[in-house]
Amino acid sequence: MCSSSKARSPPASPDRARSTAARGAAGIINVGTCSAFGGIPNAHPNPTGAVKVEDVVSGVPVVNLSGCPVNADNLTATIVHYLTFGAFPATDEFGRPLFAYGELIHNTCPRRGHFDAGQFAVEWGDEGHRNGWCLYRLGCKGPETSHNCPSVRYNEATSWPVAAGHGCVGCSEPHFWDTMSPFYDRLPHVDTEGFEFTADRLGLTIVAATAAGFALHGVGKAVQHRVGAARDARAARAAGQEAGAPSGHPGIPGYGGHASVDGEDFSDGSDYGGSAGESDGR
Ligand code: SF4
Repeated sequence: MCSSSKARSPPASPDRARSTAARGAAGIINVGTCSAFGGIPNAHPNPTGAVKVEDVVSGVPVVNLSGCPVNADNLTATIVHYLTFGAFPATDEFGRPLFAYGELIHNTCPRRGHFDAGQFAVEWGDEGHRNGWCLYRLGCKGPETSHNCPSVRYNEATSWPVAAGHGCVGCSEPHFWDTMSPFYDRLPHVDTEGFEFTADRLGLTIVAATAAGFALHGVGKAVQHRVGAARDARAARAAGQEAGAPSGHPGIPGYGGHASVDGEDFSDGSDYGGSAGESDGR
């Protein structure tokens, strides 16, 4: 341990810090939700006045790798992309690379088939939970969280929260601590914009088609068309060409609001795609 009798320099003023923090930087990679969006320190009531990095720097390109923790593979890929092409990869409206945040967790989740089939865990440790059914009714925020967790996973692709039996808490979304909590309450709505709408309707469509004897070829063609349209819409939104894009993220209050499911509202205790058993109101 050492000490010094020298007086310490006063901290830089916010304006000076703002003007000098990024000086000489080729770009800024925000690693984790705190630097990308303010994270937990920025959550209400934010007693320290914490802000995201983009609020205090300017003049350099910034990319946000949100998540708590960040995914090391996504960080590596972003750095390699910059070293290879001299620029950051294409991003969404929140500055997150599309290769890592361009798809909802819900759309690639291994438990998605159970969601579409109406098979939900309703209590921790119940039969549905032990059988690996969907965690939506236990509060999973995968339907409103964009991240590639299901495919890349963590710890050298060992696992990720849903694979371990715990719902997604939405940690890679802006203001997740305020907008995604209580973490064990289910989402009041299931977002249906873009691809998710198509995928949700696909689940119901297949059930209906089976019951009614529809031709699957026709269903497949319809789905193919909707998937293509959804991809086009996402690409346009990412390029800032879609009307209203700056207003933000679908499904997050303060970022454009929730979109109801094709006019259906699940906040009354009903479930989407059938029921796994009793309704406990979650
Ligand atoms: S609600 Fe959660 S557990 Fe269920 S399919 Fe969606 S992401 Fe997976």
